[in-house]
Amino acid sequence: MTDTAATDSTEPIWHQTACNLCSINCGVEIKLADDGRTFARVRGDKANPASLGYTCEKALRLDHYQNGPHRLTSPMRRTADGSYEEIDWDTAIREVAAGLAKVRDEHGGETIFYYGGGGQGNHLPGGYSGGTRKALGMKYSSNALAQEKTGEFWVDGQLFGAMSCHTTPDMEHTACAVFLGKNPWHSHGIPRARTVIKEIANDPDRTLIIIDPRVTESAELADIHLQVRPGGDAWLLGAMLTILLTEDLADRGYLAERANRLDDLEALLADVDLDEWADKAGIPLDEIRTATRTIAEAESCAIFEDLGIQMAPHSTLNSWLEKLIFIITGNFGVKGGMNLHTAFGKLAGGGGGGTRLTPVGEHRILSGLMPCNGIPDEILTTHPDRLRAAFVESSNPVHSLADSPRWREAFEALEFSVVVDVAMTETGLCADYVLPASSQYEKAEATFFTLEFPENYFHLRPPLVAPLEGTLPEPEIHRRLCRELGAYSDDDLAPLHEAAAEGLDAYAAAFFDVIGANPDLGKFLPSVLYETLGPVMPEGMESAAAVWGLAQTFVAGNAESAARAGYTDGNQLFDAIITSPSGVAFSSDPYDVTWERMRYEDKKINLVVDELVDEFRTLADEDSRVKDDQFPFILAAGERRSSTANTAMRDPEWRRKHPTTGLRLCTEDAEALGVEDGAKIRIVTKRGETVSNVEISDSMRPGHISLPNGQGLSYPDADPEIDLGVSPNELTSIEDRDWFAGTPHHKHVRARLERV
Ligand code: SF4
Repeated sequence: MTDTAATDSTEPIWHQTACNLCSINCGVEIKLADDGRTFARVRGDKANPASLGYTCEKALRLDHYQNGPHRLTSPMRRTADGSYEEIDWDTAIREVAAGLAKVRDEHGGETIFYYGGGGQGNHLPGGYSGGTRKALGMKYSSNALAQEKTGEFWVDGQLFGAMSCHTTPDMEHTACAVFLGKNPWHSHGIPRARTVIKEIANDPDRTLIIIDPRVTESAELADIHLQVRPGGDAWLLGAMLTILLTEDLADRGYLAERANRLDDLEALLADVDLDEWADKAGIPLDEIRTATRTIAEAESCAIFEDLGIQMAPHSTLNSWLEKLIFIITGNFGVKGGMNLHTAFGKLAGGGGGGTRLTPVGEHRILSGLMPCNGIPDEILTTHPDRLRAAFVESSNPVHSLADSPRWREAFEALEFSVVVDVAMTETGLCADYVLPASSQYEKAEATFFTLEFPENYFHLRPPLVAPLEGTLPEPEIHRRLCRELGAYSDDDLAPLHEAAAEGLDAYAAAFFDVIGANPDLGKFLPSVLYETLGPVMPEGMESAAAVWGLAQTFVAGNAESAARAGYTDGNQLFDAIITSPSGVAFSSDPYDVTWERMRYEDKKINLVVDELVDEFRTLADEDSRVKDDQFPFILAAGERRSSTANTAMRDPEWRRKHPTTGLRLCTEDAEALGVEDGAKIRIVTKRGETVSNVEISDSMRPGHISLPNGQGLSYPDADPEIDLGVSPNELTSIEDRDWFAGTPHHKHVRARLERV
């Protein structure tokens, strides 16, 4: 079934794969127990070219994902009383296809929306869903990126000419690493995060700067920690930019050569009152000056912005101001700075600068994704163009998006809904049908988090074990749905079957002829590849068929990057991918390639984002220091901690072994409330209330509280002795979102605390 490192029967067999618990997907090796399915041991895979053997402690817990008791082993159909009954696969495929086709035929395929397509470790299902979506005429989709990154993508488009111009930090080589709204110790974001930030912190010639309201594990290591007021990032960034431009710290020669509209930017910053803005940011001005000068004077600087500013007030504006800092200091397109990377597959739709709107709420669709906070209102309305059906895959919006109560209401209002997942989730419990998928370790799987530079990596993981009985890999589910919906016929595929039997070169030649002669077949490409190329793939690797198409596309569009990595045609790259269970470097670039990737014709950066200028001007009057008397605390709803993971881990037993942590608040606030560590406390927001354990932690600023992410999952039959924690999105509201991108304010939820 899988690769092995064994040389004789006495040696352990280690299977190369990856951890699926965060976007870094460290390479790991797993040893199975005697039953052939339990993950007995997990260790870092030194042969993985990106992670080089590194892991954090979370990878050791992967068996809770793979072998949790909540795995589904049969398609489930909801009955009239709300319970679920098992049905066979033929019935499930027939009824799901019929249910979706009925909505399409009565109201149009655009009233069916698609959510998900993959979590932190599995993006192939999203690719394979393309055929099903085309067969149904679906037009709207979304995923977690639309509650995190779409504002940043849009800013990239404004600065560099296209949203596909995604910047990545060269942390390995930088002299000054800045993490903004990010705790890389627990949320990672770069390969070998803990090793890299420790190396920077321990090197007297390099500087680690952490900007975070909390004294995080990363902040404890940092040379400089700016403990910004929650929600005060825009004032901090505005003050830093003003210091750069007024204290002769900008790289003016670089800007003259590389950027447009510096005069307009300086005019916009001319009225910034540094003392007042520092106060609104909650940081002494001399600390801001020191950090700003350190960035400007460093040989190079790379900045990683993340959810701390993207899920907070002024989210999209924050992204613009952050990027101006590395641009004004000449740190774009250079070693140790920020660069534009290649991508092996698309993470989101690209393009779409905001002119496309949702049909009911007219929210901007950025990078092809509906803003998550707007989706319930696209359903809960009598508008004739409302969304009427949902196809959710490898995602759990009812639990992981803002305002769980509103999402449950929206799902109940749909005419038809289906969820594809490995376990019964909170979203599954609202759906008409739940189809059980094989796990990420039971089929070939991969992600498109290919965000590195100058080398970029892709890891196609072979399966470790056979699919759990009763489950199907998503490519097979979509193949069956495409066939049931009449997307194509056996006759359409016959020439490709014949060519596949003759090898990849014959297949490539036939493929372009067949698709050229029958362009409609091209709409269902992933399923066509799965049906025709899948059967000649090595055993267990059928799901990798679509990767062949991506390899051809990548080499055709990025010939020089691929050649520098050693690949001159798509079949050569594909061969390397399927025979390298620890992953490959598929792309290699020199630093100046970043300027070639700029999409403005003059290859210059546009410094001023006109749509955000008015919002910037409002900062002069807005005051982050003002408290809400009814809700005096600022809650970060969803903080990564050692004992948290994404909700892929659905096993209550892992909470017994790694107990939940609770609401963090500082000693000063705990004393004022009269609560002790471990006490129960009620958290109340305008949306809801819940009771959590108290965890007193002086890593918090007074007035700032936080709840962990990924907890509070529903296990109706769990041991009541196990504390499952609280679900943060019972407290968040869809109304709290960025005015431009619609990204939620999860890190800035106004709350009050009451003793229980
Ligand atoms: S950093 Fe940790 S959680 Fe993320 S992929 Fe690696 S081992 Fe898994």
